[in-house]
Amino acid sequence: MNKKTIKDVDLKGKKVFVRCDFNVPMDENQNITNNTRIVAALPTIQYLLEQNCKIILSSHLGRPKGEFKQEFSLKPVAKELSKLLGKPVIMAEDVIGEDAMQKAQNLKEGEILLLENVRFHNEETENDPEFSKKLASMAELFVNDAFGTAHRAHSSTTGIAEYLPAVSGFLMEKEIQFLGNAIENPERPFIAILGGAKVSDKIGVIENLLDKVDTLLIGGGMAYTFIKAQGYEVGNSICELDKLELANHLIEKAKEKGVKLLLPIDTKIAKEATEDTESKTVKCTEIPADWEGFDVGEETIEKFKEEIKKAKTIVWNGPLGLFEVNQFAIGTNEIAKAVAEADATTIVGGGDSISAIKKAGVQDKITHISTGGGASLEFLEGKKLPGIEALMDKN
Ligand code: AMP
Repeated sequence: MNKKTIKDVDLKGKKVFVRCDFNVPMDENQNITNNTRIVAALPTIQYLLEQNCKIILSSHLGRPKGEFKQEFSLKPVAKELSKLLGKPVIMAEDVIGEDAMQKAQNLKEGEILLLENVRFHNEETENDPEFSKKLASMAELFVNDAFGTAHRAHSSTTGIAEYLPAVSGFLMEKEIQFLGNAIENPERPFIAILGGAKVSDKIGVIENLLDKVDTLLIGGGMAYTFIKAQGYEVGNSICELDKLELANHLIEKAKEKGVKLLLPIDTKIAKEATEDTESKTVKCTEIPADWEGFDVGEETIEKFKEEIKKAKTIVWNGPLGLFEVNQFAIGTNEIAKAVAEADATTIVGGGDSISAIKKAGVQDKITHISTGGGASLEFLEGKKLPGIEALMDKN
């Protein structure tokens, strides 16, 4: 990792502006239903407390579209954070208004201030220089710990770094290290497992990974586009007819690069996506008309497991079937377990794959669960993320 972290700078007693990802799910009464993202931010905050910093925290929550809306207030986050830290968290009434500015100015060593939702201002997503400057004026140093928004060039993720020295927090560092190492310096065999609904969402990832991996396993809805591209009928299975040529190009590229690209051999099919509908398993080359492929079959699961067992680095993103329906969740669950059992560095990203890992109760056995959906996909695409680029280089 060639970017400076909070360990590389003198922080003692400094006033720091920390961009976190507190974009947590809430119910209609604004009760936080999953505090994972807040918990994930604790190591950085605790380290800053040990350094006697004056800590200003900032985050977005949902999409308030540039105006104050009570349901997008970060107040519940302040409460939860205070509970987790066992100390008060001062809540600002606004972002760059009088209240926030005053509270930031009066902040003492070891105190924490949480600003209101930074997306209450359109200037945030517009990366407005004046707005960035105002945010920067509150502090002496910028810490970015919001990997989930690192693919966005916003004021609180990149603009602010024009006016303050910028370093990464521990969470951001961990993401860059694991994803970066997997891509640039993987222990081999390196395999990627990609699933999800559509090829079109993951073209960039597949293209880039074909330059890096030894083996690529493709499952989920996107597999049927590849199967169709090879001249087989896929019935009513999800299929992107305008991506057939692209699918063949990817298959060719895999051959050129010497990458073993495995598509499903068999598939569990049904006529509708319901729990108790009749289903059966057929070869992917024999999907009847009127039927739809909703999961990978047993033979595929076994074949994929063999590859997973051999791997030393595994990146997994996207479910292998319509896993929301139990009878079509078998492929995804079996792969989750196999990845967890592998004697390899394992990296799982994407909300659905993470849910599957949690459902299988094996999250502790995964080396790294990536917190940023869009950001980790863009990272795997080989794109430079503006939130990372804006940080100071190590030398
Ligand atoms: P993505 O957001 O692209 O990772 O896609 C995730 C979604 O793909 C999940 O909601 C899955 O249910 C869905 N999916 C996976 N396999 C299939 C399939 N064979 N048919 C329909 N949907 C699928």
